[in-house]
Amino acid sequence: MTSPGQSERSVHLRIVSQAPEKKASRGTAWQRQIRNAITTPEELARVFRLSESEKAGAVRAVAEGFPISITPYYASLADADDPNCAVRKQCVPTHEEGITALGDLVDPLGETDHEVAPHLVQRYPDRVLLLATDRCAVYCRFCTRSRMVGGGGGAVPVDKLAPAFAYLREHPEVRDVIVSGGDPLALSTDRLVRILRELRTIPSVETIRLATRVPVTLPMRITGELLRALRPFHPLWVMTHFNHPKELSREAVRACEKLADAGFPVMNQTVLLRGINDRKEVLETLFRGLVRARVRPYYLLQMDPVRGTSHLRTPLAKGVELMAELQGRLTGIAMPKLICDTPGGKGKVPLSPDVVVDRGVGRTTLRTFRGELVDYIDPVQSAPSGPSLVGA
Ligand code: SF4
Repeated sequence: MTSPGQSERSVHLRIVSQAPEKKASRGTAWQRQIRNAITTPEELARVFRLSESEKAGAVRAVAEGFPISITPYYASLADADDPNCAVRKQCVPTHEEGITALGDLVDPLGETDHEVAPHLVQRYPDRVLLLATDRCAVYCRFCTRSRMVGGGGGAVPVDKLAPAFAYLREHPEVRDVIVSGGDPLALSTDRLVRILRELRTIPSVETIRLATRVPVTLPMRITGELLRALRPFHPLWVMTHFNHPKELSREAVRACEKLADAGFPVMNQTVLLRGINDRKEVLETLFRGLVRARVRPYYLLQMDPVRGTSHLRTPLAKGVELMAELQGRLTGIAMPKLICDTPGGKGKVPLSPDVVVDRGVGRTTLRTFRGELVDYIDPVQSAPSGPSLVGA
């Protein structure tokens, strides 16, 4: 019997050895992973026993614009024989991507409409999104930015970001910059450092966040060299994106621990995905595993209505039901907020189970996680005290 590590390694080696046209030997481990990523239907078929739906999906993906990229590492977490594998469903396209459902949008968060400078999106007064590249290690089939990721633009040259930096200088109310893409950790360290250095010359920028799925899909990218290069730019937060416990491999956990050891707060946003993680047992295992890896589960995101992803989307009520089931089962530090990012870019709305059963004057009846009904009594408001005016 092989250990999980041995089996991952053997799948990894099989994938690399089956891509002879790609150069596997040069560069660092993470660069080799990207160079040897699975990108074609033929390569997919060499690694996975594909269903008819996946075969059709792969051909369609390559022909119609939302490409395939799967690192050998991430492929090694997937089941080569099971199309229902939770990792596989996140990275292998199916024919359902060709279906446009009611409510689907190309740009569900209205990012194009909220662009305030090239590559800079502002939907809230105090924070912006800097889209620094269209590349990712793995193209997730549920991606909100499927309209642009892998589109061919690649990394944005730093001089092309000058108008975005100028906008930030002119808008000191913006205090938080989320560097995203694509994936900012798919950039070279040198290019990323140049972007961060420029941001740190703007005094009003207090926090910088890196929105990255690299700890999940390419954990070998979290090198000592990267951490040393990023450390001067603290406070620098890492917002990552684990969706299933299978993704919490030894390598991924180690990557998160290295980030935490280097002083980066690491937060996780999980997307609620139909048939992948929409069960309380799966979410509980995931959130507990994240906390053990020193990653704070931050958001559970209702999936955005991206065109061609309705097969992965749950009804809004499902997330609320799951949160009600998790409440009380999970320690507070493992409980994320359930969020719906409203279509059209109108902003995030937190959702929660309805626990208020009744309201009276000075009294609210609440339902606990055990189903008990408990009254909470408000304090009696007395008249404001102050110097007596009697006799004045
Ligand atoms: S890593 Fe992020 S930006 Fe890239 S495909 Fe996945 S969800 Fe989209």
